[in-house]
Amino acid sequence: GSGQAAVSNFKRKPVIVIVVGMAGSGKTTFMHRLVSHTHESNIRGYVMNLDPAVMTLPFGANIDIRDTVRYKEVMKQFNLGPNGGILTSLNLFATKFDEVISVIEKRADQLDYVLVDTPGQIEIFTWSASGAIITEAFASTFPTVIAYVVDTPRSASPVTFMSNMLYACSILYKTRLPLVLAFNKIDVAQHQFALEWMEDFETFQAAVNADSSYSSNLAQSLSLVLDEFYKNLRSVGVSAVTGAGMKDFFNAIEASADEYMETY
Ligand code: GDP
Ligand code: MG
Repeated sequence: GSGQAAVSNFKRKPVIVIVVGMAGSGKTTFMHRLVSHTHESNIRGYVMNLDPAVMTLPFGANIDIRDTVRYKEVMKQFNLGPNGGILTSLNLFATKFDEVISVIEKRADQLDYVLVDTPGQIEIFTWSASGAIITEAFASTFPTVIAYVVDTPRSASPVTFMSNMLYACSILYKTRLPLVLAFNKIDVAQHQFALEWMEDFETFQAAVNADSSYSSNLAQSLSLVLDEFYKNLRSVGVSAVTGAGMKDFFNAIEASADEYMETY
């Protein structure tokens, strides 16, 4: 590829998978499932937790922001509320991120993936300077893919679906990294409706119109914007609870990493 990938020592592995999504979409549960899947499938994974405020993690993390930054102390020291505390903790960690990168670089030959969990509130990572610094540090060293976790049952209404997709779209354009939509919780609701809406924007527009509580020209126009967005991503259905869709997910990550190597 061109650009960063042209740097002579740029390697194809490990692939960095940054897991983002709305609060409650199932990021942490999904991370746990990914970690179990790597263990069962002899995939060599490395696990990173970037949520300073998580109390207990259901998986073991190789690199944990909580080992470096004490979130409660940061809140006290800087007189901050919960979100300010998380953001400041992330800022403090970002200043040392070159050390994190060199730890991964040293182990690069023994790693297939680095799985990264992010803070519960999505914008703390996706709209902060430190989130951008961390993402950029990864992407300039390793192929990096964003996994956007969607709460499928909660996205069944056309307008909610559109809001969620617009957010994912903003992340794609902000990071310029390959993006995989992981439609989670398919044990509760299948993601077939989403695939149909993404496949054919007229089907989606019809669904918006049928939703009598909300119908507007804006939604019609935005569905055209999203149609363009959908061409630039991959989507899979998964269940963090049952483990459905794990193979599909890793296939999508691999294809995205290939795309990264060609494009970036
Ligand atoms: P996060 O805030 O994005 O990290 O979300 P969590 O991993 O904490 O999950 C939020 C809630 O969704 C929890 O109650 C999980 O048990 C539930 N959840 C996560 N993934 C799934 C799934 O695949 N199926 C079902 N039924 N529930 C899920
Ligand atoms: Mg979480």
